Amino acid sequence: MTVTRFAPSPNGPLHLGHAYSAIVGHDRARRGGGEFLLRIEDIDGARSRPELADEFRADLTWLGLEYREVAPQSQRIASYRAAADELRAMGILYPCTCTRAEVAAAAVAHGPDGPLYPGTCLRRGPVPGPDAAWRLDMEQATLLAGPLEWMDERHGLQQARPERFGDVVLWRKDAPASYHLAATLDDAADGITHVTRGVDLFHSTHIHRLIQHLLGLPVPVWHHHAVLVEADGRKLAKRRDAPALADRRRAGEDGRCVVAEVRAALFDTGISLSDAIDLEP
Ligand code: GLU
Repeated sequence: MTVTRFAPSPNGPLHLGHAYSAIVGHDRARRGGGEFLLRIEDIDGARSRPELADEFRADLTWLGLEYREVAPQSQRIASYRAAADELRAMGILYPCTCTRAEVAAAAVAHGPDGPLYPGTCLRRGPVPGPDAAWRLDMEQATLLAGPLEWMDERHGLQQARPERFGDVVLWRKDAPASYHLAATLDDAADGITHVTRGVDLFHSTHIHRLIQHLLGLPVPVWHHHAVLVEADGRKLAKRRDAPALADRRRAGEDGRCVVAEVRAALFDTGISLSDAIDLEP
């Protein structure tokens, strides 16, 4: 049975790009005789707008996509904490008190997520305080794990290369868990067999595969779908005024027609599909 999920973060309204992602997840689950889940990723405290979750539910229903909702991330913090404790006990997490600005200033290289952490706090030794974030000691973690592979049903077999991200933060001081840790744990807990999401998150999978190995989690198949881009090749985004599905819903448009249009990929708005893996995340 194929289980997929749509995992939006309630920090802005859904637009056509999200609809496309939901349709891919929904259709992939249906094709596998399985289930399509909705998971609200609401642990980004500063940016999270809880009222948007209801809009998301209404949007999916308007689009005619049947789903089952599972627990939002805000109800799963204990499982994130337990996983962080486990990694800490393995000696592969270390506390870091550097600010973003300090990291940016000291970084000598860049990875897919931005400046690579220069290891300042690793060399400084543990100074844990309530304000510390916890980073993965990537060198130790990859040594422990050895070579790993993962399968993307559109892009083929991949060698995991998590080292390109450097010492990523897995436990934040403000969120609390990072997207990488939370999403990986949730996908395992929700029994996701096929992780369907945009190709803009392709690179993150290298880290997720490593986390799965370290924590002994099941390994799904990935399906990184193309993302909708505007005429200039840039990803459709709320910050560039992509129309909100909720506005179209309130204006009386028929969501099922929107879905039919997306499925047929018939856009007369200069929007098209791009499979470029190097799209900004
Ligand atoms: N919550 C993420 C987002 O809204 C999606 C994460 C995922 O699909 O893994 O971009």
